[in-house]
Amino acid sequence: MKNIILTGDRPTGKLHIGHYVGSLKNRVALQNSGKYDEIYIMIADAQATTDNADNLEKVRSNVIEVALDYLACGIDPQKSTILVQTQIPELCELTFYYMNLVTLARLERNPTVKNEIKMRGFNAGIPVGFLTYPISQAADITAFLANTVPVGEDQMPMIEQTREIVRSFNSLYGETLVEPKELLPSNKTCGRLPGTDGKAKMSKSLGNCIYISDSPEEIKKKVMGMFTDPNHLRVEDPGKVEGNPVFTYLDAFARNEHFPEFWSDYSCLDEVKEHYQKGGLGDVKIKKFLNSILQEELRPIREKREAFQKDLPSVYQTLIEGTKKAREKAAATTNSVRSAMKINYFEEMIKN
Ligand code: ATP
Ligand code: MG
Repeated sequence: MKNIILTGDRPTGKLHIGHYVGSLKNRVALQNSGKYDEIYIMIADAQATTDNADNLEKVRSNVIEVALDYLACGIDPQKSTILVQTQIPELCELTFYYMNLVTLARLERNPTVKNEIKMRGFNAGIPVGFLTYPISQAADITAFLANTVPVGEDQMPMIEQTREIVRSFNSLYGETLVEPKELLPSNKTCGRLPGTDGKAKMSKSLGNCIYISDSPEEIKKKVMGMFTDPNHLRVEDPGKVEGNPVFTYLDAFARNEHFPEFWSDYSCLDEVKEHYQKGGLGDVKIKKFLNSILQEELRPIREKREAFQKDLPSVYQTLIEGTKKAREKAAATTNSVRSAMKINYFEEMIKN
């Protein structure tokens, strides 16, 4: 069996450092590992319409921003196929057939969707498309016969839903589709980076993000304004490390080499944590350290992004070519789906 990756992001904003540690960094490593036969990276603009039908300009304008973030982080179009979801109508067709393999009750039980519904506060009611987006995600994954899906923790229920659809389809119509597995980041902290405001997840839709493309000044301002332990009022007070997003970011980004470079008072993160918990270490010093690390990590990415930004026609070309290649694969899978369902009537009529 071929090793195939499908993964992607909704163009609802520029990508943030949660995407970077939760998924993007991993994708680049997988891409360069040479272990995968095909890699598809999808800009999920169709899925982004499910909660932005009244603001498509946001989705449209962010397609290119997400593409720039990909290229800046090291996604190489020679090795990974970047595609734009709306331009592949076969994905809608598959979604339509899969809808019959899932019950409404099953969709309503999805914990990530439940949470997102709460967060979005849909005033006019929940759009049907939003509730059913896990089905369209199953179409995206199966269209490319992907067996590996590198994602953050919030996507686990989607992969489970996809496996259920694959099993139902294959048992009803014969072995056609491939069951995928999620691939989570090895550092658990990275699977769900919290927001700068301390909310459980950094999310484009919540405005609590540090973006990969933020300027040095923006990064500094956001880090210095971060939520910490609200009870750590004076420097001498003992502070809490658990649930403190500054420490969570350090867990995700700090390496021992950073200490001699930026903060030689300590040799590792555990020493900093211990001091903070005992009392006597102020938030400002820790935030300054975090800022130095983030500045160093994001500088080369931002510079690469600016270079791509100056050559947009070549980025458009990358999207056009990637989408064309991806569509061929999705069309071939859709054909085998139709054959399995025995609805390829015309082909049969010509044969007989
Ligand atoms: P939206 O708020 O529009 O849903 P988002 O910030 O959740 O945007 P998505 O495009 O939905 O981003 O997610 C793309 C990928 O990034 C998924 O694999 C998801 O698991 C991962 N991801 C998103 N947010 C985080 C985060 N805070 N930490 C780690 N991974 C994340
Ligand atoms: Mg999301």
